[in-house]
Amino acid sequence: MRTITLSAGQVHMGSLIIVNRDHQCPELLQEMEPLRKTHLQMEGTSSIRLLRRAAVLFTGLMDEIGGWEQIIPVSGYRTLKEQTSIWEDSLAKNGQAFTDAYVAFPGHSEHQTGLALDLGVKSDSIDFLCPDFPDTGICLTFRERAPEYGFIRRYPAGKESVTGIGHEPWHFRYVGTPHGEIMEREKLTLEEYLLFLRNFPYGKRPFLFTKGERQISVSWKKADKNGTTQISVSSRLPYAVSGDNIDGFIITEWRG
Ligand SMILES: [Zn+2]
Repeated sequence: MRTITLSAGQVHMGSLIIVNRDHQCPELLQEMEPLRKTHLQMEGTSSIRLLRRAAVLFTGLMDEIGGWEQIIPVSGYRTLKEQTSIWEDSLAKNGQAFTDAYVAFPGHSEHQTGLALDLGVKSDSIDFLCPDFPDTGICLTFRERAPEYGFIRRYPAGKESVTGIGHEPWHFRYVGTPHGEIMEREKLTLEEYLLFLRNFPYGKRPFLFTKGERQISVSWKKADKNGTTQISVSSRLPYAVSGDNIDGFIITEWRG
């Protein structure tokens, strides 16, 4: 085993950070992370930015299902300035009710994390805010395979009061594996999943997920008040740590 020391700032970093009306996109991320963003260039049609790991997994999924001919990424990473101008434009054109339902308030958009993207089915006219992404054909295939690659439908129908955002079938969020599959299976939004994980304290009673031959444990640890948090992990098996952007860490450990 080896000991890992996590800084207070790491609470606001990682693929499971929550950004919604109650939790802002970390300023640290807004300022520093763009350096690590990957430009995703699609043949002459569109170009978006995503955090490197999300871009790699998205590309892998699109290659696997042969999605490039028909699916187009409409929007990825946005700076605070870009989110502000999208919000102001929507307010002027579409009014308050529509904007509240479909456009996150500047500083509170998942698009500012570089972990979210909007997808549309290719057509002559694509609606930038609400692209068409039906539950049929290649879009359905993408939706069904997405959790394996760590992507979730972030704003499903029926969970509007939990997410604070209207049903957005076009918006996907990278949360990493195996979290996408767990959330899909348990029908949990990111808000609900982070609450759920608090029932599985690190070092005591982890949540266990079986994938093929392997068992993966997921647990949550509250960040220490003194500024650094220590965990001990296997020195030979993979693990991942993400902040929740609230007050703790999600620790994922692959077991033998
Ligand atoms: Zn979106």
